[in-house]
Amino acid sequence: MRGSLPTVILAGCGYGAIDALRALKGQARVIAINPYPYSVNSGMSTRLLSGRFSLELVRIPLLEHIQANGAQFLPGRVTHIQPEARTLTLESEAGIQTLAYDYLLVNVGRELRPIDGIQHAFTIRPAEQLVAARTWIRQCWQRAAQGDPTPGLLTFVVAGGGCTGTELMGELYDLCREMSAETGIPLAQA
Ligand SMILES: Cc1cc2nc3c(=O)[nH]c(=O)nc-3n(C[C@H](O)[C@H](O)[C@H](O)COP(=O)(O)OP(=O)(O)OC[C@H]3O[C@@H](n4cnc5c(N)ncnc54)[C@H](O)[C@@H]3O)c2cc1C
Repeated sequence: MRGSLPTVILAGCGYGAIDALRALKGQARVIAINPYPYSVNSGMSTRLLSGRFSLELVRIPLLEHIQANGAQFLPGRVTHIQPEARTLTLESEAGIQTLAYDYLLVNVGRELRPIDGIQHAFTIRPAEQLVAARTWIRQCWQRAAQGDPTPGLLTFVVAGGGCTGTELMGELYDLCREMSAETGIPLAQA
């Protein structure tokens, strides 16, 4: 252990780490690493598609929470972990640095499974993708209203029918209903 309190690094500061910050208060010297000074409330993020929520609303500001729990915030991404040496590599705008830890909590969230061609689709993460999808879908309706004959212009597919996919379908339906009213194209044509 380095010093009287162990050094705990939180790699990623989303849902998991926010709870950990509270639990570790006063128990350790805590360093929280995240690319941005905010994380995203995933449970709220599907509503970005219908426009019911904005990016500002779904973002969880981290700085206040980190400071209130006596931890230090370092912006950047963890790119390598060297468990033998108990060090990690942090890449940030300030450059590349090596940090030492006693304990490391890795909470970087989930990656999407690689699917060939996924780069042509919108994804659920990062949340900005849902805002881009909303803009795209609105544009498709506007193009259809201007007579664009592209087949499938108003056909939208949600890939994945679990809880998140089902939520997205509801938000997509609301967006299409709004665009139907805005453009005068019957909803049944989508
Ligand atoms: C649409 C949707 C709806 C959901 N709804 C619910 C719900 O209703 N209830 C529920 O319990 N769960 C829900 N979940 C699941 C829940 O969001 C996750 O289980 C939870 O966020 C996982 O927490 P985490 O801390 O592991 O990761 P996250 O909360 O994803 O946080 C990861 C953090 O790590 C950062 N990061 C990523 N890479 C690096 C790196 N290399 N270095 C440093 N930082 C990095 C990210 O920027 C992010 O801030 C939902 C998920 C989705 C996608």
